[in-house]
Amino acid sequence: MGNRMFQNQTILVLGIAKSGNAVSRLLKKLGAHVVVNDKNKVEPASYGEQLRILGCEVYDGGHPIELFDKYHFSLVVKNPGIPYQNIMVQTALKRGISVVTEVEIAYLINPAPMIGITGSNGKTTTTTLIFQMLAESAKHPLIAGNIGEVASEVVQNATKENVVVTELSSFQLMGTKKFRPHIAVVLNIFDAHLDYHGTKAEYIRAKMKIFANQTKTDFAVINIDDEYLAAERKNLSGTVIPFSVHTVDLAGAYIQNEAIYFQQEKIIDIKDILLPGVHNLENILAAVCAVKAYGGTTEAIVHILKTFQGVTHRLQFIKEWNGRKFYNDSKATNILATQKAIASFSNRLVLIAGGLDRGNSFDALIPSLKNVAVLIAYGETKEKLCESAQQARVSEIITVSDLPAAFHKAVTVSKAGDTILLSPACASWDQFKTFEERGGMFVQLVNTLV
Ligand code: ADP
Repeated sequence: MGNRMFQNQTILVLGIAKSGNAVSRLLKKLGAHVVVNDKNKVEPASYGEQLRILGCEVYDGGHPIELFDKYHFSLVVKNPGIPYQNIMVQTALKRGISVVTEVEIAYLINPAPMIGITGSNGKTTTTTLIFQMLAESAKHPLIAGNIGEVASEVVQNATKENVVVTELSSFQLMGTKKFRPHIAVVLNIFDAHLDYHGTKAEYIRAKMKIFANQTKTDFAVINIDDEYLAAERKNLSGTVIPFSVHTVDLAGAYIQNEAIYFQQEKIIDIKDILLPGVHNLENILAAVCAVKAYGGTTEAIVHILKTFQGVTHRLQFIKEWNGRKFYNDSKATNILATQKAIASFSNRLVLIAGGLDRGNSFDALIPSLKNVAVLIAYGETKEKLCESAQQARVSEIITVSDLPAAFHKAVTVSKAGDTILLSPACASWDQFKTFEERGGMFVQLVNTLV
């Protein structure tokens, strides 16, 4: 890495989590003087301790604004989750010091082209699809974001031959300045994170920053079923590649005769796609646009769509056993996610749900439960779920104490042709540490079937 951009600069890194750790190490390697600050105390053997050993100056347990007098910071890199009201951020901005997030640094030193994916929902799935399709096309992609490592870690190993595929949150995008992905994908814009962004307009503005520095040689992949994105189309400076599940727009990816097309080329019949759900169809169309724009092959796209089992714990296909298909959707920790999961299947459904009781009712799930043949409820919320299932006239309602019992019940009551779905509609913390642990246990139980 012969990059001298940050040499001898004094840079403040705010927040010592995964991204703060990665970017501090990177800046140190590039010859910067790195000062790190976190409002929490640094624990022994933590990132903060390691950074200290590396020679970064670490200030923990508060936000000392005197640091701005002690050092002449040329730049502040903040953790995406730290709000702009934060005293250190405010002080930097008042003094005219640029405040960015780690992806901006990653972008500046990255020798490879970048594909950035953002949206309210579907980022991880779409990022994974694009990564796998490009890998299958021998385009040497590297993946960054929620899965795997943060971008500033990944780009350290990148060469011009690679392409960095990265998921981007609106928080990360807020802190970009020159960031210019060669291909930028925006999946959808729902009202999310209003606690942080204040208004929807502000949230949208953050997401649209992904396109800000693009030129005609770059590509802007947008969902034209989204009202806002459709209206913005004419204002984008990159070459627009639209996708839609509802309308045929020959400039991009669309659905015709129950198949996916890209610019008039038939890609695949929908029935041959392993990943269920209309929402995933959107993610797939977006991925097809990005991969095609980057020169990926149709064969690679088709191969991945026929075999991709979904991202772990997100409507992940596990296996088929005696005519029953098992899916793990442990990430569904709320009602909305379980509604989506149920809507993804048309065959007889055995649903396993339940978990931590947050005090909410499950009335909103009743319309979806009408499409469930058997409900097996467990955990703290089992009685509440049963009541809603009764109102939805679910024909078979069973309660058990825990997930293993629910799994065994599901195996015995199901028939060939059924889908058995774990989509809990609840957090896992009554019986598990994380939703990953819950999903992991379910996958393990399914894999004991021979
Ligand atoms: P993200 O990384 O944006 O959180 P994921 O790919 O991890 O998204 O998907 C998380 C959940 O979001 C899924 O389980 C599904 O319920 C929902 N989802 C995924 N893709 C979409 C989409 N295109 N539109 C609406 N909801 C979606």
